[in-house]
Amino acid sequence: MTRTPLTTSLDQYEVWFLTGSQNLYGEETLRQVAAQSQEIVAALDAAGDVPVKLVWQPVLKDSESIRRAALDANAADNVIGVVAWMHTFSPAKMWIAGLDALQKPLAHLHTQANVELPWGEIDFDFMNLNQAAHGDREFGYIQTRLGVPRKTIVGHASDPRVQQELGTWQRAAAGLAASRSLKLARFGDNMRYVAVTEGDKTEAELRFGVQVNTWGVNELADAVHAASDAEIDLLVTEYEDLYDVVPELRRGGDRHDSLRYGAAIELGLRSFLEEGGFGAFTTSFEDLGALRQLPGLAVQRLMAEGYGFGAEGDWKTAVLVRIANVMGAGLPGGASLMEDYTYDMTPGDELILGAHMLEVSPSLTTSKPTLEIHPLGIGGKEDPVRLVFTADSGPAVVVAMSDMRDRFRLTANVVENVAPRHPLPNLPVGHAVWKPAPDFATSAAAWLTAGAAHHTVMSTAVGVDVFRDFAEMAKVELLVIDDDTTLTGFQHEVRWNQAYYRLAQGL
Ligand code: MN
Repeated sequence: MTRTPLTTSLDQYEVWFLTGSQNLYGEETLRQVAAQSQEIVAALDAAGDVPVKLVWQPVLKDSESIRRAALDANAADNVIGVVAWMHTFSPAKMWIAGLDALQKPLAHLHTQANVELPWGEIDFDFMNLNQAAHGDREFGYIQTRLGVPRKTIVGHASDPRVQQELGTWQRAAAGLAASRSLKLARFGDNMRYVAVTEGDKTEAELRFGVQVNTWGVNELADAVHAASDAEIDLLVTEYEDLYDVVPELRRGGDRHDSLRYGAAIELGLRSFLEEGGFGAFTTSFEDLGALRQLPGLAVQRLMAEGYGFGAEGDWKTAVLVRIANVMGAGLPGGASLMEDYTYDMTPGDELILGAHMLEVSPSLTTSKPTLEIHPLGIGGKEDPVRLVFTADSGPAVVVAMSDMRDRFRLTANVVENVAPRHPLPNLPVGHAVWKPAPDFATSAAAWLTAGAAHHTVMSTAVGVDVFRDFAEMAKVELLVIDDDTTLTGFQHEVRWNQAYYRLAQGL
């Protein structure tokens, strides 16, 4: 059977750069428009913070070429979005058909060729050529009138802030492109009686493009039990190179067979996922069939490679982990399933300890994890192998997805990962300790008000800005809890959003 290894890179993607003008200006001016827009593209494309290739397109001067450019962008799978700039005045009725047809994310770059005005030399030719200040206002009007979701970026191409904003938007567009082509395999259903991990899979396919379907866990178990001794030997050697393996799991150790079984789970999962072209998956500790261990180590390693994962059948969080892995491609840090577990409630210095039964991605740490085996209190299976570590200190964001019946809601909290206040010698799982913004009480009260889940994706590679851009382009609600959040303001936003999102769907 054909196997397709997962790609979690931005290298295969393009963003098109569209420059608007019109035929009124004459050839000489239009030549300058073309040359200067190419210079802007070259400057942005060369910027370190702009990760996706920016491709200049011929200057657009009439309705038909604009509509054609939108249709071509829609049809090209590797084009994840378009940037538009009106160097001169491009009468915006020419953009109606194109914007109405465009199905890819849009960024409106409001810039100009020069930084400073050449005060002593300005004549009317200069004014004719450099008029984005009003050309882009005409374009802003038609975008708003048509209700086109977009990001507006203002400033010169040489400004690092402009480059960062464009890069952030590109990463969000890559996340959306990845979700639109995502296939997710569920092994077993949701944990019994749990509410927040449920959701509308049909709506998810319409909104995010992700296909969510279930396979019997024994199909996975068959793949696991088909792993050969030679493959297992190789993988165990890799584990011994990469991790501090506890003596009982090493070759010759009392429990080495458990590590070999953990390796078989990884081999079987990988072959199943690659044969099906899956980029995300879920497991359920209540439905392990013939599997002898709950998958821990394997899940941790696959998440670190870019796969999405949700425990207890939580496919919504699995989608978020996959999207966050793509959005953060090439950056330090990573993305992982996370669960708000327990608190240190020291007044004024509260901390959240997050972890899961096993499945936290080692991409959250730069230190060497230990590979250990411990009993698992629930599930009734053999003791599972797992990587144990503490997430690196530094900025992070946690994001949850809830199904609100008529829509999905994303809730994000900006947090700061910190070192545990004391060693955690008896905690046998990967974990993170963080301080939520703006403070513990406001964060937790806002989170509970939003109805946000206990499962999240934690990203240490990208921040909340990428999720803001993602929510805008996916047309999905996002509530942000950060340093600007007050509880009363947040409560109002939740209430107003209830009305807004119902009205925005039409009656
Ligand atoms: Mn859980």
